[in-house]
Amino acid sequence: MTKTVAFMTRNFGKYDPMSIGAYMRIGGFHALKKAVNMEGEAIAAIIAAAEVKGRGGAGYDMGRKWSQAKAVIDDNKVVVCNADEGEPCTFKDRTLIEHDPFNLIEGMIIAGYTVDAENGYIYLREEYSHLRPLLLNAIKQARVYGFLGKNILGKGFNFDIHLYSGAGAYVCGEGTALVESIEGKSGRPRMKPPFIKQCGLYNLPTCVNNVESLSLVTGILLDDQNVYQSYGTEKSKGTKLVSVGGNVNCPGVFEIPFGVTVRELIYDLAGGIQGNRAIRLIQFGGASGKIASTDILDTPYTYEALQKAGVGVGSGAILVVDERTTVMEFLVATQEFFSHESCGQCTPCREGNRHMRILLDKVAQGTHTESDVTSMKKIAKLMAMSSMCGLGETAQSAFVSAIEVFPECFIVK
Ligand code: SF4
Repeated sequence: MTKTVAFMTRNFGKYDPMSIGAYMRIGGFHALKKAVNMEGEAIAAIIAAAEVKGRGGAGYDMGRKWSQAKAVIDDNKVVVCNADEGEPCTFKDRTLIEHDPFNLIEGMIIAGYTVDAENGYIYLREEYSHLRPLLLNAIKQARVYGFLGKNILGKGFNFDIHLYSGAGAYVCGEGTALVESIEGKSGRPRMKPPFIKQCGLYNLPTCVNNVESLSLVTGILLDDQNVYQSYGTEKSKGTKLVSVGGNVNCPGVFEIPFGVTVRELIYDLAGGIQGNRAIRLIQFGGASGKIASTDILDTPYTYEALQKAGVGVGSGAILVVDERTTVMEFLVATQEFFSHESCGQCTPCREGNRHMRILLDKVAQGTHTESDVTSMKKIAKLMAMSSMCGLGETAQSAFVSAIEVFPECFIVK
């Protein structure tokens, strides 16, 4: 099987990302020209037929999301591009913006047209502030060429894009915290319902998509031969950008057809482990993802196979940790990250992360008791069931999987 493909990344290195003229010379804005001659429902149906799952982490059916957004009756809807790529070891969206910003802008305009939105907002994580000039330039040039603004392509469609920067908070990747932040408030998640699709940014119906999801749109709309669907497996169609990092020789972002194995990703694409050391653990999907042992190496990278193996695609990250770090050192660092990033708004997450961190420290030092392990299991369950947002619900994923995969680390001495 081919290990890498260039569907989403087909434009990489083929044009100057500061020049709309160069983008148009390689076919840029053809997808938008096609889209504005279609009904929004038909565009959403094409995305649905391609079986695109949202690439922000939740894996929600993107075509269905667009259909639902289109069906909301409101004159003032908004589209948001979530570029707050905060999961550790996840840097695929950064790569997409760096190499192909106009493709993202075009995907957003098509999203706006599909769901009848007049405004789009890009929420860019603070750590990517070096990408602001690139995006501002792309927006400005798209306005000059009439792809943004009033009466786009003479179709009576009005749409503009605004760029906002975060302030470095991991939790702002959560949709409701993100819109609070754009509104100028402290970036803390909202209580749900109401859901963002009905009452989001400025209390308007809001359709949020991740950078990678929006970057797929042009390719799929122009894919008359169904090339995208020819990649992957029956249940995981298409291609995926995966960022592989940690103790590998060649960390990077790879566009793979679903089905390439984890071993191929780590050893063939990311160059294997530094110093040929042994792998201690592999984390999938960022800090909120589960961890696995080397038993997972021959598992195909697909939604279904990873789920069966006890992990998930999540943010599209694979973090490889070699034998120099112990499982407990890794878990303590992960829990410390979440203690720091918890917004503190709800008790299960604010206190749970803190207590988990203290108890994991005891395990790391070998001073824990059976009751400490029982408490950790209880706290983890409570956090997952009663936290207000995804951060608290998933902050203990690494611990929960470690108990299963590395039970020897928790034995009381
Ligand atoms: Fe804040 Fe954590 Fe509660 Fe989310 S789960 S609202 S991050 S305290």
